[in-house]
Amino acid sequence: MIIVLKAKATDKEIKEVADKIERMGLKPHVSKGVERTIIGAIGDESLLKEDQLKAMPIVEKVMPIMKPYKLVSREFKNEGTVIKIGNTKIGSKEIIVMAGPCAVESEEQMISVAKAAKKAGAKLLRGGAFKPRTSPYSFQGMGEEGLQLLAKARKVTGLPIVTEVMTIEDVPLVADYADVLQIGTRNAQNYNLLRAVGKINKPVLLKRGLASTLKEFLMAAEYIMSEGNHKVILCERGIRTFCTYTRNTLDLNIIPVLKKETHLPVIVDPSHGTGRYDIVNPMSKASIAAGADGLMIEVHPNPQEATSDGDQSLNPVQFAKLMRELKPVAKAVGRKL
Ligand code: PEP
Ligand code: MN
Repeated sequence: MIIVLKAKATDKEIKEVADKIERMGLKPHVSKGVERTIIGAIGDESLLKEDQLKAMPIVEKVMPIMKPYKLVSREFKNEGTVIKIGNTKIGSKEIIVMAGPCAVESEEQMISVAKAAKKAGAKLLRGGAFKPRTSPYSFQGMGEEGLQLLAKARKVTGLPIVTEVMTIEDVPLVADYADVLQIGTRNAQNYNLLRAVGKINKPVLLKRGLASTLKEFLMAAEYIMSEGNHKVILCERGIRTFCTYTRNTLDLNIIPVLKKETHLPVIVDPSHGTGRYDIVNPMSKASIAAGADGLMIEVHPNPQEATSDGDQSLNPVQFAKLMRELKPVAKAVGRKL
């Protein structure tokens, strides 16, 4: 249920309604919009005494949310969510590009790629310290040492960092270093991990599961938000189909559909979505044209030497060219970069 309050509800009045919802056995989620405040009452709706809420003078209306995802849905919050990361805002008019290697490999690699990413206009630095590899024999990432190198690169360039957390136990450690915690495609339905990142106060970049439907993707975001963390960025990164000419099939259809269904910012990762560096450029442009709020691009100083995903990584020259070419596309759809 959503409880819409009358315009100019005071903090005290908001709290009174939230407390009442809590006493009924549901969890109140307050969303303060520019015009009005709405409160989502999440949990067993049969416990909700609608008449009692309607009787409160500050309550304008009580409405059911028809969708299975509640806090995530546009019904709950009509305005698009803007997530602040340092001086950067995702979900605003500006297209935000996150760039960096698949895996953190060395200080030299991280500092050089971070400088190149910043120079080309990236606003966040990516890099995996804990890597979910298909084979247990592949490079698994540098762990905490990798997080330290990311922090060093942030210090040098000022770029906030986004990095993956794979287990519940690692959440406090990764949250200590990262500005944004990434949940990878393989963990997209690891509900305990989703709940764990829902309890922290840092933005979460949630990748779509390899075979997640729209509903499953949004329900994963709902798990995070239901624990109180409303700073969720959705990331389309390709899904598994019968096509083998690309690593995954980048589902561009989902961008405008997500924009209709949810208020959360949506970004696209065309590196994993294609698995081919030669088509990252056109698919990045297509993503922006389709309404994405940003991109996550794998960039490596020397892709031929990369420990993972070299075949889908751009080198700094290719990345700088992409950033230049994205500008007119962003402008054409009323955005800036
Ligand atoms: C990554 O970003 O390096 C990664 C492993 O992504 P995904 O979870 O989308 O495969
Ligand atoms: Mn990768």
